[in-house]
Amino acid sequence: MKRIHLFPGREKLALNRHPWIFSGAVARQEGSPGAGEIVEVRTAEGAFVAYGQYNPTSKIRIRLMEWVQAAEVDELWYRRRIEEAWALRLPLTRQTDALRVFFSESDGIPGLIADKFGPYLVVQFLTSGADRVKELITALFARTVPGLKGIWEKSDGDGRRLEGLPEVEGLLWGEAPGEIEITENGNRYLVNPASQKTGFYTDQRDNRSLVAPWLEGRSVLDAFTFTGGFAVAALAAGAKSVTLLDSSADALAQARRNLALGGWEPKEVLEGDAFQLLRDLKKRGDTFGAIVLDPPKLATSRDHLEKAMRGYKDLNLQALKLIESGGYLASFSCSGLVDFAAFREMIAFAAKDSGRRVDIVRQLHQAPCHPIRTSMPEAEYLKGVLLRVI
Ligand code: SAH
Repeated sequence: MKRIHLFPGREKLALNRHPWIFSGAVARQEGSPGAGEIVEVRTAEGAFVAYGQYNPTSKIRIRLMEWVQAAEVDELWYRRRIEEAWALRLPLTRQTDALRVFFSESDGIPGLIADKFGPYLVVQFLTSGADRVKELITALFARTVPGLKGIWEKSDGDGRRLEGLPEVEGLLWGEAPGEIEITENGNRYLVNPASQKTGFYTDQRDNRSLVAPWLEGRSVLDAFTFTGGFAVAALAAGAKSVTLLDSSADALAQARRNLALGGWEPKEVLEGDAFQLLRDLKKRGDTFGAIVLDPPKLATSRDHLEKAMRGYKDLNLQALKLIESGGYLASFSCSGLVDFAAFREMIAFAAKDSGRRVDIVRQLHQAPCHPIRTSMPEAEYLKGVLLRVI
C-alpha cells in the first residue's frame, strides 16, 4: 500500500478522527496512487495515522476511513459499514419509507450517499474512492436492505466535479424507479428520481412534523418550497392556505402535484428569486400568519461566508416584515460552515433590524438518518429555529 507522509504536526485533527487531510498537509508520498486508491497516512516521524481514499485532484487530498492499523479496508470492512448504517435506520422505517440510509463520512464511507424511497435506493458516489467500489456497494445494499426492487445511481453535483468525475445517472441493480409515492409522518409525496431532477429532502422530516402544529389555521408562505415538503405538512395540520415560492418551475409543478395528492390547491404559486419576491410581497401589502424559509446552501466556501451571512440575514429580515403579529417564522440554514451560534446571531440581527419582538420557540436539527460523527462537526449542516414574531 502506498504511503503518504504529513508535515510535522499536521496529524493532530486526523488522530482525533477528523476524516479530511488537505493537500497542504502532505509533505511527500511514496509512488503515485491512483484516484480513489486506499493509502496509508503517516506522521512526519513515520507513525501510523490512518487509511483513507486518495484523490490527486481534490483539495481534500485524503479522506480517512480506518484508524486501526491492523484493520483491512476489504469487502468485509465495507459490509460492516453498510450493515451498521442500516441497523441505525431500522427504527425510523416505522415512521417513514423515505430516509437516508447512508450519509457519507458520518457512516464511514466518504462520498457515499444513499436515499431510500419506498422499495428503491437512489445512490450517489461523490468521491473517486466511493466510485471505485460502486459494484461492491451495490451488491451490499441489495443484500442488506430488505425488500428492495431497484438501485438507481444519481451521481451528480459539485462534489463529483471537484473530484474530476463526470455526472452519471442510471440503473445499477433491479428495476428502474418510475414515480415513487412515499409516506412521511402520514403525509404522501411523489418522488421522481429517474425522470426529473427532483428528489426529496429527508433531512427535514422531523422539522416538518415539529413545525406543522404551529401552522394550524394560518396563511402560510412556504418559501423555497421545492416539492412542497413543508406545504403539505402545513395543510395536513390544518393551515388555512399555502403560498408556494421557488425559483424552479419543475419543483413547483411537483409541489402542486404533491398538494393535489391530499386534495389541496395552493393559494398562489410564485416562481422566481426569493430575495426579490419577498420584497414584492411587501410592496403588494401581503401578510402571512407563518413563513417557512428553507434556502439552499448559501455558504459554499469559507471565502463566501460573510456574503452568505448577509444573504441569510436579508432573507430573514424580509420574511419578518411580512409576518402578522403573533405569527411564526420557521427559518433554516443547510450550510455546514454556519454553526448554530452564528445562525442564532444572524437571526438576532435580523430581529433587531425588523423592530419586532422575536422569541425562539424551538431549535431544529437534521433528522437522525443524517447522523453527526463527534469527530466531524461539519456534518451538522442543517439547523433551524421556529420563531414567534410579535
Ligand atoms: N423546503 C424544501 C427544500 C428546499 S431546497 C423541502 O422541504 O423539501 C431549496 C430550494 O430553493 C430548491 O427547490 C431551489 O429550487 C430553491 N431556490 C434556490 N435558489 C432560490 C432563489 N434565489 N429563490 C427562490 N428559490 C430558490
